[in-house]
Amino acid sequence: MSLVIGLTGGIGSGKTTVANLFADTYGIDIVDADIVAREVVEPNTFGLNAIIEKCGKEILLEDGTLNRAKLRDAIFSQPELKAWLNNLLHPLIREKMQQDINQSQSPYCLLVVPLMVENNLQTMTNRLLVVDVDEQVQIERTQQRDNVSVEQIKNILASQASRDQRLDAADDVITNNGDNKALVSQVEQLHLQYLKMSQDQ
Ligand code: ATP
Repeated sequence: MSLVIGLTGGIGSGKTTVANLFADTYGIDIVDADIVAREVVEPNTFGLNAIIEKCGKEILLEDGTLNRAKLRDAIFSQPELKAWLNNLLHPLIREKMQQDINQSQSPYCLLVVPLMVENNLQTMTNRLLVVDVDEQVQIERTQQRDNVSVEQIKNILASQASRDQRLDAADDVITNNGDNKALVSQVEQLHLQYLKMSQDQ
């Protein structure tokens, strides 16, 4: 089985940008928790069927897909539903991520999980790579990308692991305060390191 490098970082830190560099430049397989989280509730999955059983067909959009906005609202007013949903989805997500990892063909693969440290999912990896960024830069980039208020971003930041908690858990760190070129050279260094590790494995 290939070496698994966990990739995490706070909101707008650059995880997707970094993962795309590994994939596009070096052909490294990416397993992305956000994508997997959508896959496990696609129509005709065990996940979506369980949600329909719990919440009724009203939780679907007309095309039969999950009405995420409605589910978000329901969770907001019913904390016990949130716990139920997490109990349902977290194991399904973990299982699907592991299947995707097992199918990886590249010398190592990246497992991208925004809340890796919060959910202790680095146990699924051999090594943890953290994308670190100064808070000011993080807020500016997120604001530009999502067109949301600074206050909303600060609320999200407060709900996530702190920079220090993430850095404490990290084996490797990419610092993403600079331009794309600075990112490219850090990714290159790490790629060489991971290639060597995968060969030594
Ligand atoms: P989230 O977890 O919130 O989805 P993320 O960690 O995946 O975010 P990205 O989407 O990769 O972060 O980056 C956030 C924004 O910052 C994007 O608009 C991206 O294009 C931009 N960005 C990332 N790195 C840089 C950089 N080095 N220079 C300029 N812009 C950058």
